[in-house]
Amino acid sequence: MAEPFSLYLHIPFCTAKCGYCDFNSYAGQEHLIPSYSEALVQEARLWRKATTGRTVSTVFFGGGTPSLMPLEEFATIVDGLRSTFEIAPDAEFSIEANPGSLDEEYLRGLRELGVNRLSIGVQSFHDDELQSLDRIHSAGDAGEAYRAARAAGFTNVSLDLIFGLPDQPIERWQESLEEAVALEPDHLSLYALTVEEGTPLARSVARGRTPAPVADDQADQYEWTVRRLAGTSYEQYEISNWAKPGYRCRHNLTYWQCREYLGLGAGAHSYLDGVRFATAALPDRYLALVRESSELATDGADDAPMRQVVTGETMTPELDISDTLILGLRLVEGVSLAAFEERFGVELMAAVGDRLREPIDAGLVGVEDGCLRLTERGRLLGNEVFERLLPD
Ligand code: SF4
Repeated sequence: MAEPFSLYLHIPFCTAKCGYCDFNSYAGQEHLIPSYSEALVQEARLWRKATTGRTVSTVFFGGGTPSLMPLEEFATIVDGLRSTFEIAPDAEFSIEANPGSLDEEYLRGLRELGVNRLSIGVQSFHDDELQSLDRIHSAGDAGEAYRAARAAGFTNVSLDLIFGLPDQPIERWQESLEEAVALEPDHLSLYALTVEEGTPLARSVARGRTPAPVADDQADQYEWTVRRLAGTSYEQYEISNWAKPGYRCRHNLTYWQCREYLGLGAGAHSYLDGVRFATAALPDRYLALVRESSELATDGADDAPMRQVVTGETMTPELDISDTLILGLRLVEGVSLAAFEERFGVELMAAVGDRLREPIDAGLVGVEDGCLRLTERGRLLGNEVFERLLPD
């Protein structure tokens, strides 16, 4: 039977742009939402033929701020997806939500549309930190959004938090994490703040107005976090992700396990039928290109022209090995030596042992229980390992 695949939908709209954010997201373009919803449905239809016979195992609305979309627009998109793809009855159906744009009625509406997992971008439980991150919500809003989600019937809720903020004493991070744990979410995503090139935060750091996050402080906070959550009901399963049993994010596992996914929307990335590709990033351009593709497709073209796809790369064995290792090593369980050999017809250490010699000697990665895994120290310094595994 044909392999199932995952579906990602990118919603690029935000009320305001956060200073640290380098995602493909835009403030002040909400007027495009109705035409964008229609374009997502049109784009889905363009892919119908190429995905016939394959089931969708997970659906994920990410952004941007998907929760900015009015319920009617969501209904349009979800109806379009259901009439185009075969979505598994037990599919995980997630949406990323901003606490500043949620209430119980809206959340009930999402449940009715079949959304069964909510990922709330809390980031911090301190208002001053939220302001420094340019977030539009308060710590109080985050708690309220969480309670509203439970009241609306969500039984799978994840909270996202960021640590290692400029000048953040470890105690303040500890307080935020404790508040999050006290709410008893099913899943936690905990990321270190990174200064991404081209963001207002990067400019502010370069001008000396904002102190750069200190790697050693971030490491201390991360190590404390790993210790704090060890022995609780949260199991760490990825460098930045913890879940109660049965609540690992199935959609993100698709990426880490190098399985296939189709991304719809502006700037969405895909990996389908052995090809990696991405769509036009600017919402206006994406809309125009999807319109063009749809017109050509209905003009009797056999295969949809996919004008919205602007970059593409066919997977080579070398790339596949690199992706399998870099993504798989993010998982705490690592990469199974046996599965690797079965898939690539070569022993893992024969394929990349030379490249890994230094990180193995430095205690960052090693073989344990038949799997190549990052050590605890390696999880802090994953990039040191990953850069050695990039294709030449
Ligand atoms: S809400 Fe999220 S996607 Fe939007 S600007 Fe802030 S960090 Fe970026």
